[in-house]
Amino acid sequence: MLTAIVGTNWGDEGKGRMVDLLSADYDVVVRYQGGNNAGHTVVNDRGKFVMNLLPSGILRPETVNVLGPGMAVDLEHLFTETERLRAGAVGIEPGHLLLSERATVCLPYHKLLDGLEEDRLGDKKYGSTRRGISPVYADKYMKKTLRLGDLLHRDTLRRKVEDLVEWKNLVIEGGYRHPAVTADEIMDWLERFGLPFAGYVCDTTRVLSDAVEAGKNILFEAQLGALRDIDYGIYPYTSATTTLAAYATIGAGIPFAKIDRCVGIMKAYSSCVGEGPFACELFGEEGEALRTAGGEYGAATGRPRRVGGFDVTASRYGVKMQGCSHLALTKLDVLSYMDRIPVCVAYEIGGRRVEEFPALIDDQNAAKPVYEYLPGFACDISGCRRWEDLPGAARDYIRYIEKAVACPIRYVSVGAERDAYIQLF
Ligand code: GDP
Ligand code: MG
Repeated sequence: MLTAIVGTNWGDEGKGRMVDLLSADYDVVVRYQGGNNAGHTVVNDRGKFVMNLLPSGILRPETVNVLGPGMAVDLEHLFTETERLRAGAVGIEPGHLLLSERATVCLPYHKLLDGLEEDRLGDKKYGSTRRGISPVYADKYMKKTLRLGDLLHRDTLRRKVEDLVEWKNLVIEGGYRHPAVTADEIMDWLERFGLPFAGYVCDTTRVLSDAVEAGKNILFEAQLGALRDIDYGIYPYTSATTTLAAYATIGAGIPFAKIDRCVGIMKAYSSCVGEGPFACELFGEEGEALRTAGGEYGAATGRPRRVGGFDVTASRYGVKMQGCSHLALTKLDVLSYMDRIPVCVAYEIGGRRVEEFPALIDDQNAAKPVYEYLPGFACDISGCRRWEDLPGAARDYIRYIEKAVACPIRYVSVGAERDAYIQLF
């Protein structure tokens, strides 16, 4: 069974939590795009863990975890993240964690450039996580980055670094008037943070290919959500990567394999980190109450997330673009405090009611929310474990959403803990 777990919205839908739960049935968990700009939070019997680069399967000792060729890996971050997890008694060894030799290395100057550009933009900034993701993917497509496998070729590494630095300084020094970076500092950084991982770098395509042939179960863990996809999202307020399930096998390194199913993770309300169009945004007391109830502060950056009611238009679009077979509706318990539940049922653009998610930023920016209210549950549902335990209003809300996005909901999550969920079929 090959399953993709993806976000249907702006990210932070609770993918890490669902991967942690569902990975019990999988032999391998692969991350296939992005870098440490994600934050996946998992709460289980061993504590609370935040993963930025590592697959959420890392918490299960028997699961093989892979960072695929589609990823950009900041080795310094990987170093601190593995140290942090080890301090929490999570074992991380070669074999339990495999790094693709084809994955791109996110270097310190990518982070530097991300920050320099956001600062240059001032109040026109994108709201980047400043972790170098856009600059490193731009360089990947310029064919001017290191790949993890380059760490295994010490004889040619320095020459590669010198060539890259010479080119990059044209922008750093020549463009941004920032002091040049040197090959020495990059080599020192690689020695310190890269070489400890040399034993983890391998041909993960071969490993995964063997796993597919042996009929193993593989889970593909996405980062962010459909609306952050570089082609289909709220460009240019997207990530620099393809966040859709269709990219899973390519980014994981096994393009010949076919995904059997795609589980969309969809939050019972909306949240969005950073700048960009977010038509369903709630402000004032209504917004603050939802942000507090949902604990909506970025796992990667700690930034307060913007929040809104469930957005039918955006979610239906996200579910479709992901090609979801079924859904997990998360954080339904967060709505427990509401007497009535706000739902953004459509947009109004230039006086017209619009039910299709607009492709272009100007239309997305012009969209005004059309809000309707559904009856609230007015009770705490976090203890519910069966469909029958849920109050009628919660069941109606679930059925309403299912119909609105035209996809069956299989799991309803009512808490951050591993067992706080209801399975519907
Ligand atoms: P991801 O980026 O999609 O993996 O999601 P994040 O980890 O960034 O954000 C989801 C947050 O909600 C985390 O803090 C989770 O622990 C928490 N969470 C996940 N599912 C639920 C749920 O059903 N109820 C509540 N109350 N919290 C949840
Ligand atoms: Mg997150």
